[in-house]
Amino acid sequence: MKSDWLAWLWRSRDVRPFPSQWRFLFESSLPHYHGLSPELRERFESQVQRFLAGKRFYGCNGLEVTEDMRVLVAGLACLLILRPDAKVFPNLRSVLLYPTAFWVRHEEPDEIGVVHEGEVLQVGESQDWGRVVLSWEDVEAALAGDAVNVVAHEFAHQLDVGAGAPNLPDYARWSRVMQEAYDELCAKGSPVLDAYGAEGPAEFFAVATESYFQRGEELRSHHPELYVLLKDYYLLETA
Ligand SMILES: [Zn+2]
Repeated sequence: MKSDWLAWLWRSRDVRPFPSQWRFLFESSLPHYHGLSPELRERFESQVQRFLAGKRFYGCNGLEVTEDMRVLVAGLACLLILRPDAKVFPNLRSVLLYPTAFWVRHEEPDEIGVVHEGEVLQVGESQDWGRVVLSWEDVEAALAGDAVNVVAHEFAHQLDVGAGAPNLPDYARWSRVMQEAYDELCAKGSPVLDAYGAEGPAEFFAVATESYFQRGEELRSHHPELYVLLKDYYLLETA
């Protein structure tokens, strides 16, 4: 009896009403929000609530993080986790927001193996130890429909459980379709997929995810099998 009551209490924590001002914000600013079926919208809103309850946001370089910024980043990220079994990026603890692109220290070995240290300008980074770093200017560009979607890119890295694949019950189809599309990108480029995807399978997954969300129709016409694979995984019709 007692455990039933606790289970009820626990479930009731999930059914707090979704703030109407967040819904207005999504309706006015979040691509694909209008295309969500009632079932997916319910799941999406619940994932957004969990995301905002569990992840901390930090402003960097003087950026003051507003509630709208947190909600929109959560919204873009949670479009990637609409599967019924999707967890809310369990390894992620915090999101760092920079006002614009930011410099990151990098070590790069050259052809003879000598490691060179330098700084590169980045719009986003996903770190294995539980952080995603984003340029807010580029988040806004993604919301406005830019081909680059830094949130989709970095959060696809968060979903990656190894070699450019998320957690799946069966990898056979994923591996075949991704490998073919990756080989094609490496060999002759693509009008839809950023050439950066040729860096390796992990970047390919992230770049393909960006195209799926930002250029769904073009992705479907140039790489139909890849589009359907991603649609079957993310569950959204973006074309
Ligand atoms: Zn990447």
